[in-house]
Amino acid sequence: MHDKQARLEAIENQILNDNIAPQLASSATQLVYGSGSAEAEVLFIGEAPGKKEDETGKPFVGAAGKLLDELLEKIKLHRQDVYITNIVKYRPLKNRDPSEAEKKAFWPYLESQIEVIQPKLIVTLGRHSLNCFLPDLIISKAHGQLQKMGKWNILPIYHPAAALYNGSLKSTLTKDFQQIPKILKNIK
Ligand code: URA
Repeated sequence: MHDKQARLEAIENQILNDNIAPQLASSATQLVYGSGSAEAEVLFIGEAPGKKEDETGKPFVGAAGKLLDELLEKIKLHRQDVYITNIVKYRPLKNRDPSEAEKKAFWPYLESQIEVIQPKLIVTLGRHSLNCFLPDLIISKAHGQLQKMGKWNILPIYHPAAALYNGSLKSTLTKDFQQIPKILKNIK
């Protein structure tokens, strides 16, 4: 167990040593690497840190994070049981969308995180995260449907931030979330 945690920390140090996305790094307060259990069965992957995340160094601690906590609670999971990270690990200024180059720069480190954690299920939050894995899928069609990418199982769902402003998206997101326990049971 400690071995996985140590390996995750080594990847975090590697991002810093490799001076990834130096422009983003210089405007951000700190790296928001990821948090949760290195032994997690479920890995949630968002887009990029926002203001609160930049301040605290933890992913999904703002309004979208509160909704994520609520959704986790409904399926009897807690943050400490899962692992949460983002594609891009520094806050883009004014919360602009991360660029293709920025997403590409962080991708190998995300792959390494996945290789260490070996989650049964990867849950992508929103279209940026989905399209880093499966560029041809459209979130409005693919959400809630289990996808395969090599040996990875991927469940695309809407980003909780989108559901904050749209009631019908919230019920879709809740329904999609409720598939997680069933999917986990079916994956050996
Ligand atoms: N939105 C994201 O995609 N990631 C966070 O960490 C917070 C908000």
